[in-house]
Amino acid sequence: MIPGPIEVSPEVQAAHQGPPPGHLAPNLVEAFGSSLASMRQIWRARPEDQPFLVAGSGTLAMDMAAANLVQSGDRVLVVGTGYFSQRMAKIFGRYGADVARVDAIPGQAVTLDEIEQALEREQPRVVSITHVDTSTGVRMNAQAVAEKAKRVGALTVVDGVCSTGAEALSMADGTVDVHLTASQKALGLPAGLAFFVASPRAMEARASLSLDPPMYLDFRVWQPIMRAYEDREKAYFATPPTNLVMASQVGLKQIEEDAFNGLRGIEGRVARHQRVASAMDAAWSALGLTHVCDRPQDRGSTLSALRYPKGVGPELVGAIGKEGVTVAGGLHPQMKDAYFRVGHMGWVTMHPPLLERTVRSVAHGLAASGWPVDIEGAVTAFKDRLN
Ligand SMILES: *Cc1c(COP(=O)(O)O)cnc(C)c1O
Repeated sequence: MIPGPIEVSPEVQAAHQGPPPGHLAPNLVEAFGSSLASMRQIWRARPEDQPFLVAGSGTLAMDMAAANLVQSGDRVLVVGTGYFSQRMAKIFGRYGADVARVDAIPGQAVTLDEIEQALEREQPRVVSITHVDTSTGVRMNAQAVAEKAKRVGALTVVDGVCSTGAEALSMADGTVDVHLTASQKALGLPAGLAFFVASPRAMEARASLSLDPPMYLDFRVWQPIMRAYEDREKAYFATPPTNLVMASQVGLKQIEEDAFNGLRGIEGRVARHQRVASAMDAAWSALGLTHVCDRPQDRGSTLSALRYPKGVGPELVGAIGKEGVTVAGGLHPQMKDAYFRVGHMGWVTMHPPLLERTVRSVAHGLAASGWPVDIEGAVTAFKDRLN
């Protein structure tokens, strides 16, 4: 129950465990093409947008976005909500960008007014935003930021590593230019794949660079490969992790075929995550826990970042682990010993007994650490909210 790598479905695991296909094998070509087609549904991409699937982690996707969108002297505005926004700012800096930041107090979101003022002041070529910051649990309204950025002619990069597949974000209106993620978090796959969709404006930005980016990072090198696979044709530039591609076909289809509360596909998936986050929140409240992010409307639904209660510290993570459930410690450098994190994304959101077990383990861990709790009260609060 850490915020990634997460539990994957038995079907994804089975697909991952098959004999390694060659990169030109018919089943691999089909799995690759089908994964790209599923991405179009999950990202709500337009036909002119280009999905990419490349071996690497989320940080590779971040590097690729920067390497293809900016060159020396380009102004970039990074919306800072935590650890991963800081990383994005450093990455843009490495490609020579002149990076300006608009940072939130840890645990808070940056307001749209602050962003509007920063856009006015900085006149950036690119705006970068972390949809759900995994270090604080803060969710930004990435769609609204992208709309504002487009109005001043800036490109928008959204880091969706902890949100894509679980939070609402659509490329259909042409506001978002690069929406990137990795396999092991909200998409519910094993680690090792970077996923992103680039808009035509992002591809034009790449075309206008005066120097080519490193070959493995180059959108233009990968684009014909992606097009071929999507047309179910063989292609080769660099060998894909073929077992992961087999797993990806199955996992992305499961998102496309999800249904919850009368909603289908990604909409159903988003609603399911919202319901689960709300039920987990009911349990946390009953246990006397509070979130790092105070404002409910600024919290993502993929994880809970919870302050240690009075008299309890990082030893709680080990105490919960003794109950058989793995949670994560804090990550934000300014406050990492003050809170812990519980992921609730992907496959587990379809399995209430696993979520209940998590609530019980956190409750028992708290009790063992000397914090008085009503375990059954927390479980009842969880169940009442879930149903
Ligand atoms: C985990 C994470 C990353 C980094 O992804 P890796 O796959 O670990 O490289 C980037 N951004 C966010 C929001 C993340 O949660």
